[in-house]
Amino acid sequence: MLVIGLSFLASAQTPPLTVIAREGRKPLPVTSINNQDYIAVDDINAAFATTSREDRLAGGLTMTARGRSIVLTENQNVVSVAGRLVTLPAPPVRRDGRWYVPADFLPRALSSALDVRLDLRRSARLLIVGDLRVPRVVSRVDAGANNVAVTLDITPNTEARVNAQQGRLVVQFDADALDLSIPLVSTQGFVQTIAPGDTPQTVVITLGPRYATHRVTASQPDPASGRVTIDLMPATTDVAPVPAPPSPAPDTRLVIPTQGPSTGLRTVVIDPGHGGDELGTQGPKGTVEKEITLSVARRLRTLIESRLGLKVFLTREDDRTMSLDDRSAFANNHHADVFLSIHANYAVRPALKGAEVYYLTVERADEEARKKAAENATTLPALGGGSRAIDLILWETAQARYLEQSASLAGFIEQSLRPRVEMSPRPVQQLPLRVLVGANMPAALVEIGYLSNTDQETQLGTAAYQDQIALALLDALTKFREFLEH
Ligand SMILES: [Zn+2]
Repeated sequence: MLVIGLSFLASAQTPPLTVIAREGRKPLPVTSINNQDYIAVDDINAAFATTSREDRLAGGLTMTARGRSIVLTENQNVVSVAGRLVTLPAPPVRRDGRWYVPADFLPRALSSALDVRLDLRRSARLLIVGDLRVPRVVSRVDAGANNVAVTLDITPNTEARVNAQQGRLVVQFDADALDLSIPLVSTQGFVQTIAPGDTPQTVVITLGPRYATHRVTASQPDPASGRVTIDLMPATTDVAPVPAPPSPAPDTRLVIPTQGPSTGLRTVVIDPGHGGDELGTQGPKGTVEKEITLSVARRLRTLIESRLGLKVFLTREDDRTMSLDDRSAFANNHHADVFLSIHANYAVRPALKGAEVYYLTVERADEEARKKAAENATTLPALGGGSRAIDLILWETAQARYLEQSASLAGFIEQSLRPRVEMSPRPVQQLPLRVLVGANMPAALVEIGYLSNTDQETQLGTAAYQDQIALALLDALTKFREFLEH
């Protein structure tokens, strides 16, 4: 008992670094001195085959690494590496006959003497030796009413495979080791634990009694990271079928459980402008609007589903012709809480560029329509007595009731776009846009840039620019959700 207690105390004080090298992994002891992580020079010598010789008279220590000298002086935070001076965040310390150096000595001084990359990852307590692939993997568990989604965010993006074996799912990464961050999970009977696997490249999800089947979706939320989502589902009798993912595409559809009925924003309809016979505008180099809008819409859907947990529908999933009225009708039929139409702009003057946001204008003539819409609200008797208002509103006038909310939505979109992409001189405008007229919910249209401008045409075709637009719109929807809730 006592021994266990003591060893627990010793390790709990300062956990060691794990050194990960091509040959394997080993612990490197860490001592806390003045609240900083220090490593004993003896331990460095043992781990990296360096040697050291003390000069007591000079109060110094000389380390030799691959024939290069590192000269340390007690209580001086500058060391010499093969004649070059390197600053450390804290000085070397001599204590009880042993020399200690701050952990930063490893990447800053030892690395150049050994001529090998040493990557110190403090939060994960890893020291990576050489050019190994050690992606950072952050796991998250989102619980829905009937299922659980395990999300693994992987930076940099790294291939991963999920294999089912006897009550476990083993996620194997195409990497040398993993820099893992796994939260404690409470998982409604679908997951017991998520833990590092038997090999350094794996993560193991131990399944609970409610688990019956799973579905794996890969996506890329931003250019730097990849994401694997594993939906864990019960036996299918008590749940609606989950739609099958479309054939392999860079942005595959994720199905994440919704967060419940407490929010005023549950369903988003995104409308990729144009499609099919209708190309939209075209840039001087031939970039076609209908393709850009669909690509941005798909990116945005992935972000909204994974980060906000909302339901998202696209008015078109592929390259097809669709009328403007059918687009707003689609949003109405899907009970969308927000309708976002995405377009790219065109101007005769090629210098014109920047993003613009539109919401519907109500002209003087439309005031009549607004009144008419209000009169069309009908009161019907409700079950159990009393009455409730049922809105029988013509599609043509539907949007009139949401103009204030749509103006706020357009404002949030402008705020979120501005720090990320260039804005046009007239960033928010009101226009009588047909596609917005029939939408029976807050609605806005975004022109994400001018295809008629050569520079912008190039930008609009890149994943980086499209991701910035998608992130901005995600940000705007997050703000709009808060706005609706308060
Ligand atoms: Zn357009």
